[in-house]
Amino acid sequence: MGDRSQSGAPILPAGGERLACRNVGENGSKTIGVDLGGTKMLVGVLDGTDVAWQRREASTGQTEEELVELLIREINLAREAHPEVAAVGLGIPATIDYELGIAVSAVNLPLADLAIRDRIEAEVELPVFVDNDGNVAALAEFMFGAAVGMPHTVMLTVGTGIGGGLILNGEVYRGSTGAGAELGHVVIQADGPPCQGNCPNHGCVESLASGTALGREGKAAAESSPDSALGQLLAEGRTVDGTAVTDAALAGDELAVSVFDLIGSRLGVACASLANIFQPNAIVVGGGVIRAGDLLLDPARREVRERALKPMNETPVLAATLGNDAGMIGAAALARVELGRRAPAARRES
Ligand SMILES: [Zn+2]
Repeated sequence: MGDRSQSGAPILPAGGERLACRNVGENGSKTIGVDLGGTKMLVGVLDGTDVAWQRREASTGQTEEELVELLIREINLAREAHPEVAAVGLGIPATIDYELGIAVSAVNLPLADLAIRDRIEAEVELPVFVDNDGNVAALAEFMFGAAVGMPHTVMLTVGTGIGGGLILNGEVYRGSTGAGAELGHVVIQADGPPCQGNCPNHGCVESLASGTALGREGKAAAESSPDSALGQLLAEGRTVDGTAVTDAALAGDELAVSVFDLIGSRLGVACASLANIFQPNAIVVGGGVIRAGDLLLDPARREVRERALKPMNETPVLAATLGNDAGMIGAAALARVELGRRAPAARRES
């Protein structure tokens, strides 16, 4: 079962909320956000700038139907705790048809061409909004996190894969149907390794700089340097994955730090291209791998300085500040923003 954790903890600064929530309706301040990850689901209630309630539940090993039932159960629990909630936002690691509310294709979850918005709306009788997990993370960082006051923000979430999100002119940019901003699939090596999951491409930044790549490079480095801290882990029969490489790097192991230099510089090659294309106020990096902080970001900043055109070579590369809650907070924020958009139209009709 999931754990019921903090309640009423004010974790969000108020700053940029007004930028993306110009038209929030009077009843739109409390919304449910769901971050549906490949291994876990985080459900929360956003009340103003506070996370008023949250709950975590495993999501692995479920069929599509079981996942939908789990979503409905969890949303109903949040609603029991806060009956006045006005809408639900879902952040899903899948390509999304935004207007139709369909999860088109997912890599780490068994979702394909699922009309998830209509399914959930029919059961919970609240407006439901569905978006890609990278997009909602970007929205969360823009409204409450590292990108407050930055209407042009590029977000990368570096975890098992690399997710992307774009805030352009203060709005989430989704492409023509909602599937765009797959920034993890920027190619940085044309003849590079095959990409992960459903991606048919080679040498995407996801295949070369994700947490998965970090573990792979760390293991290769450990094998070639048996005397290093990473090499000793391997000799003891322990797993050398992204988490182990991060722990070793944060403890000062030079080999692990050099692996981060490799991964961070690859990330930076992609960041230089993104800086050239979008000229953002900042590139914000989140996801599990950002636990390494500047060990990851300093090499990325170096590449941006050296590779991007002036003045984009001065684009700041910042660590995300909302951590593992960004997806849930962003999903709830999406519901609030969309309710706000509906409110003026409803007033005109009445
Ligand atoms: Zn790819």
